[in-house]
Amino acid sequence: MGELPSMKVKPVKWEDVAYWCKLLSKRIRDSGYRPDVVIAIARGGFVPARLVCDYLNIVDLLSIKVEHWIETGKHIERAYIKYPFKVDLTGKRVLIVDDICDTGESLIVAREHVEEHCKPLEVKTATMQHIPSVAKIEPDFYVDVVKEWTWYMYPWNYTEDMVNLTRKIMNSDPQKQWAPEEVKEAFKIAYNLDVPLETIKEVMEEATLRGFLEKNGSKYKLKT
Ligand code: AMP
Repeated sequence: MGELPSMKVKPVKWEDVAYWCKLLSKRIRDSGYRPDVVIAIARGGFVPARLVCDYLNIVDLLSIKVEHWIETGKHIERAYIKYPFKVDLTGKRVLIVDDICDTGESLIVAREHVEEHCKPLEVKTATMQHIPSVAKIEPDFYVDVVKEWTWYMYPWNYTEDMVNLTRKIMNSDPQKQWAPEEVKEAFKIAYNLDVPLETIKEVMEEATLRGFLEKNGSKYKLKT
């Protein structure tokens, strides 16, 4: 058996998201910046962007799809715009919103694309979390400074993250037949997370439906 993975993971509640976005909106308002248009970076920026629109009374919400982090805790080398578009934003003040600025590449490519192809008057960026130790850009607005790199498990990503974290654990011994109880214990060691057994069972069922695991009786093995 190989080593279990080790990663700092922070589960986030919906209330945390609402709190951070309210604070973020207050900072934007206090700065005097008055965006006409919000652009959400898909997919992580959707909920924060919608809340910022609510708190700042902004009607125009667009989205741009950036591909970078393809799996929980794992990214491709360069971020890119998956469906490049041109919209006329002449004379508009734009706010680009994402959940977290990690390497910052998503913000950088989104900003460059909007500036180059949409001709806005001004562009600023906002995120809830910012990881200064790794980010190549500092967002214009943020509320939560992350000191030690952490994977934020946002509520809109819970199933996807749990499936991926389970696969990482099982990958430490790819031939093994894993009981949900063993995966539950491994979650404590690998991620310091105490997850209810019922949730682990649900996630392993879901991972099977998604084609990542095969079920044998009450145990599961990684599909090769
Ligand atoms: P980046 O381009 O590295 O700044 O990453 C941007 C996107 O990847 C974010 O919008 C998130 O959806 C996702 N992501 C990157 N790092 C993390 C993290 N530490 N925790 C949660 N999501 C992340």
